[in-house]
Amino acid sequence: MKKIEEEIKQYQKYDLDGALKKAYVVALKNPEFKKLINTIKVKEDIAINYTTKLEETVSELENCSKCKSLMMCKNKVIGFVYYPLPLNDKLDFNYVACKYKKKELKEHENIRTNFFEMPLEIRKAKMSDIDVNDAKRVGIIKWLKKFYDDFKKDKHLKGLYLHGSFGSGKTYLISALLNELSKENNTAVIVYYPELLRSLKESFENNNFADRINEIKKVDLLLLDDIGAETVSSWNRDEILGTILQYRMDNKLSTFFTSNLTMKELEEHFILNKSSEEQIKARRIVERIKQLTENEKLISENRRK
Ligand code: ADP
Ligand code: MG
Repeated sequence: MKKIEEEIKQYQKYDLDGALKKAYVVALKNPEFKKLINTIKVKEDIAINYTTKLEETVSELENCSKCKSLMMCKNKVIGFVYYPLPLNDKLDFNYVACKYKKKELKEHENIRTNFFEMPLEIRKAKMSDIDVNDAKRVGIIKWLKKFYDDFKKDKHLKGLYLHGSFGSGKTYLISALLNELSKENNTAVIVYYPELLRSLKESFENNNFADRINEIKKVDLLLLDDIGAETVSSWNRDEILGTILQYRMDNKLSTFFTSNLTMKELEEHFILNKSSEEQIKARRIVERIKQLTENEKLISENRRK
């Protein structure tokens, strides 16, 4: 490998500031940087003016290479890469959708909900696709329709705690409502709650953690899907869930839950040991959920194939 100084000499032919040259040569030591230069087919005398920005792109592409879903995104703008395209004798940097974002945009049509670990049929759920022939679901469907109409006038409506049998359509029905409202400029987030907690634990060290929690706290419409299926710890119960619920209660933000557990069972689920302190903490969470929601039950045939 040549010494940096020798390589700099090679660039003496460019009549450019020495610092720029040096930075560029150092950046070229990174094979990913070199690869980017080759991919976009930019001339070196142009690229040399953009070392810092190009390094930003390289670092975002490195994030992408390790990324498995949009909610894991570590880039500055979630779902996008700051990417250069040669334009005359310049580089034009734009935010370009990553593969996950492109897929999501295509699947969603106008749905603007942010999903975390939700299956495709839920991401695409629409109110017009709801099968209305199941008598057991008519009550819930009417409730959702009323919410949809009322939300246009009042954005501080109570959500739903929808519990009941596995596969009865709880997640699908609420997602259809939130997706529909997301098309009308309301922000919506649907998260598979047990997976959210796992991922938060992992992302605790990086700075996306606070952004993610903030989005969940502040979004107009939130669905915490499958609450009660998570492994409870005092950290995720009191610090994460407790904080989210308190914020949403204080700001009267519409919040939905689906669960296989009744509210009573959920309260027991939150008790970590028999101490009275634990019972109070579990009660405190359930009281917040009760404040935020109306309670409905959905027992119907299992629609999962
Ligand atoms: P739950 O959350 O109650 O366990 P889901 O909402 O996941 O159940 O629904 C189970 C399956 O049935 C999913 O594959 C979902 O997409 C499908 N499903 C539920 N309701 C409908 C509906 N009205 N129209 C079409 N598919 C539905
Ligand atoms: Mg579900």
